Formats: sequence, C-alpha cells, structure tokens
Amino acid sequence: MPLPYGNCGIKYLTAWRRRPVNERHEKYQIRRMTHAAFHPDFRAEPYWWLAAPPEDDRGTPLPARADFVIVGSGFAGLSAALEAARGGADVVVLDGGPLGGGASSRSGGMVSSGQKLVLTEALAGLPAAKQIAALEDSKATFEFLKELVTRENLDADLQLCGRFFGAFTPAHLATLRRNAETLHAKTGVTIRILSREEQHEEVGSNYFHGGFVVEEYGGLHPAKLNLALRNAARSAGARLFSHARVQGTQRDGAGHLVKTERGDIRATHVLFATNGYTDAADPWLRKRIVPVRSYQIATEPLPPGLMDKLIPRRRMVTDSRKELTYARPSPDGTRILLGCRPGAMPGEPEDMALALRARMLRIWPELAPLRLTHAWGGYVGMTADRIAHVAEHDGVMHAVGCNGNGVALMTYLGWHAAQLILGRTNRRAFFADIPFPAVPEPVGRSWFVPLASAAYHLRDLAANPAEVVAERLGRPGEPLTGTTSKES
Ligand SMILES: Cc1cc2nc3c(=O)[nH]c(=O)nc-3n(C[C@H](O)[C@H](O)[C@H](O)COP(=O)(O)OP(=O)(O)OC[C@H]3O[C@@H](n4cnc5c(N)ncnc54)[C@H](O)[C@@H]3O)c2cc1C
Repeated sequence: MPLPYGNCGIKYLTAWRRRPVNERHEKYQIRRMTHAAFHPDFRAEPYWWLAAPPEDDRGTPLPARADFVIVGSGFAGLSAALEAARGGADVVVLDGGPLGGGASSRSGGMVSSGQKLVLTEALAGLPAAKQIAALEDSKATFEFLKELVTRENLDADLQLCGRFFGAFTPAHLATLRRNAETLHAKTGVTIRILSREEQHEEVGSNYFHGGFVVEEYGGLHPAKLNLALRNAARSAGARLFSHARVQGTQRDGAGHLVKTERGDIRATHVLFATNGYTDAADPWLRKRIVPVRSYQIATEPLPPGLMDKLIPRRRMVTDSRKELTYARPSPDGTRILLGCRPGAMPGEPEDMALALRARMLRIWPELAPLRLTHAWGGYVGMTADRIAHVAEHDGVMHAVGCNGNGVALMTYLGWHAAQLILGRTNRRAFFADIPFPAVPEPVGRSWFVPLASAAYHLRDLAANPAEVVAERLGRPGEPLTGTTSKES
C-alpha cells in the first residue's frame, strides 16, 4: 500500500534536483506519454494562452527617453500605462519576458471586492479610520474593474456569476458563517448560507460541509483581459517592449536612468509593477515581497450535461483549507479549472498536476475519465503585513503585493499609481498611505515559503486527517447520487 507522504522525502527531492535537467525532462516526457491522466496534447502552460498568448515585441529598439517607464506588463503595469498615456504622457512599458507572461495571464481570474483583506487579520490593529479606508478602497477595486471593462469595451469574458465558499470540515462551516456575515456587514454583498444538503444547488459534490454564496462576485478570462489592456494601452499611445529586463535605476538629475538589458532609457518617472516577479532591479522592493507559487490545471472539455451536475450555476468555487483550493468552469463552460497554493516542496508542473488532479477527484470523482490538457504555475507577491502597497521610495514608484488576490486590486493600483505620479488626484488610497515593512531576514525569500506551506499542510491535516490522507493516497471522493436543482 502506498504511503501518503512516501514520495516527499527531502532526500528524494534533493537527489532529484541534482539530476541533469535533460534526464529529468526525459522522465517527464515518458510520464506524460504513459500516464492516463495526461491528454496527448498536454501542455505545461496556461489554458488561458490558447485564446490570448503572451507576445514578443523585441524587434523595435528601445527609445532613449520617455516621460514614464513602467516595469512589468501585468494588470498593474498595463492599467498604469493606459491611464498615463490617456493623460498625454509618453509611456514605455518594459517586461523582462514576453508581454503579459507574468501572473496576470496565469491567474484563476476570480474577482471580488477584496474579501481577503476583509476576512484576514491584516487590518487588525490599524486605527478605525484606516480600517474604514481599507474597506472603501477594497470595494473600489472591484467597481473600478467593472467600470474599466465596460468603458474600454475590454474583451475579457467578465461574468458576475457569484462564488461558492465551501467548508473543508463541519467546524469550518461556523467560521464561514461568521465570515459571510462580516462580508455582508462590511461590504454590503448578498450572501446565502447553505447546509451540506443545500450546497448541491451550487456544487455537485459531497466534499464540502456546507458553505455560502456571494452573488456579486465573478470571474473573467485573465489572459484575454491582459491582451485587451495591452491593446488599449497601445491605442492610447503607450509603447510596449518584451524581453527588456530592467537591471536597475539610478538618479539622473530630476529624473532617472533606467538600465535594461537592451540599453538605457532616461525617464522622468518610473513605476515598478513587478509583484511576485520582483527581482534584484529594485533591492529595496525585493526585501518586501515574498514570491509564492500557485498552480492550476485544466481538464479536456466535459461531456454534455456534466457541468450542470458539477457546478450547476457556473459559480467560482473556493474552500476553507489553509492550502486553499480554487476551482471554476472555463468562461465557455466546457472545462473545469482547479488551482491550489503549493505544498512545502513545489515540483515540476507534471507532479503538481497529478497532485491537483487528486484533489479535483476528491471533490468531483466524476471527472476521473477526463484527461488534463494544461498545467501551469505562477508567482503571487506576498507582503509581511498582507496588504498591497502603492507608493514612492527614493523617487521610484511601486504598485505591488497582491497577496494572491490581484485581478481587481492590481488593476486598480496601477491606475492609482499613474494618477499619483501625474498629479491627477489629491486623494491617496489606503494602500498608498501605510508603511511598507520589510520581510524579516532570514525568513525572507528562502525559508518563508517552505515553512509556511508545511505549517498550512499540517493545519489541514489536523483539521481533517481522513480527507488529507485520502487525497495523498489518490483515492477519489464519494460520487454524488440523486438529483441536482437543475434536474429536479
Ligand atoms: C496561478 C495563479 C492564480 C491566481 N488566481 C487569482 C484569482 O483567481 N483571483 C485574483 O484576484 N488573483 C489571482 N492571482 C493573483 C493575480 O493573478 C496577480 O495578483 C496579478 O495578476 C498581479 O498582476 P501584476 O501586474 O501586479 O503582476 P504580474 O502580472 O505578475 O506582472 C509582473 C511582470 O513584471 C515583470 N518583471 C519583473 N521584474 C522585471 C524586471 N526587472 N524588468 C522587467 N520586467 C520585470 C514580470 O516579467 C511580469 O511579467 C493568481 C495568481 C496566480 C499565479
């Protein structure tokens, strides 16, 4: 009988890491070809890129100067570029990789009015006025995103389909009930609490122990949103360059010299919108961001009628695990996409894909015959205070720190950063008005993630040992019997 943690020894992983890359690659090729879970056309890249891949724009030489250089072509950078270019600035966006290749086109695409900030302890200890400002700005992020999509006619498949929050244990249902009431009281959203029996109207699964629905939340196609923002920023006059990694900045009179691998640019203003991909180009910022990987898989298209059974109202679905699960139908309603934060020892996409599939089959065993077409990962940017920040340090602006919840938030913060830089507002958002603490060393980048992930895993194990062990053993969950609301 396999042991639930049999493959996870540090010795095993260390030995594996020492193997030559081509040998590892070969092993994965073989696993991919032989494992029944993988579709023959399986790709270790985002499903989202089928409709809107990242792009290269490295043919044109970089300009020698610009009013405004933006580092990063995710939601934050592009939203800033659009706002600044519309305001008449000469804007250049630089990305170290392909345009739109960061977290923004890898995301789950779930959108809300900052429920995480409301429900975590991030605001505890702040003065009441700051807490009110935080809630107002959190709500504003979602309103801004909806308004931007409508105003700019962005093709992003935004659907306000609601979200189901499922309880991982019976005890978690009481916590979720309190969370739902807090969300309603503080942000005004419409909530509906469901028992384990009632949840089948929302999610065809016995995995959850009840939960609640927020009607106003929704989802979108993150890579299409990124592409639409690239197009909008370009039409407004911004110039976008891929494969132009910024190596550093230095003061240059009243402005800055931006040093890149494709040459230097003189700029009046610089914005770092690099979030979980923040590197040594800004050492001050790097000390404040911890990159954490999140992984996702996509199935092949479901047979007709199955989605009606699994997610009858096409909601976004998350759970109350510390190792958070997030799942959803693709915007066209044909596939299930499911994601998770990493275990203590994140691995190659194919390993993570099999681990995620095991969790997916605990929730929906009916998906066992379906193969995976895509698996991918990306980095989110965590901060020590679990709050995002948009401010200036040493003359250079930053908009970073999504803490895993950045589709609406980072789009809003990019816009706000551009407004602040160009003097188009006197109002400083909550996120612009609080100190940005460094992550204490030596916790910093190397130890924080494995330790925190291991602690999260142990907390899930303690909360529901039978479930966590069954998942690790690869045992599918109990299939749903009876009818769903659509069928009844
Ligand atoms: C798998 C996954 C699932 C997620 N699911 C959700 C979700 O469902 N809902 C939600 O709200 N959020 C989700 N998130 C988080 C959300 O996607 C991010 O918060 C958001 O996309 C961050 O946008 P950004 O513009 O700040 O950064 P990014 O999109 O990450 O862009 C940063 C860019 O900066 C570039 N860069 C970094 N350093 C340099 C340099 N020195 N020079 C040039 N370029 C540089 C990188 O190449 C990168 O392209 C998810 C994230 C991941 C990874």
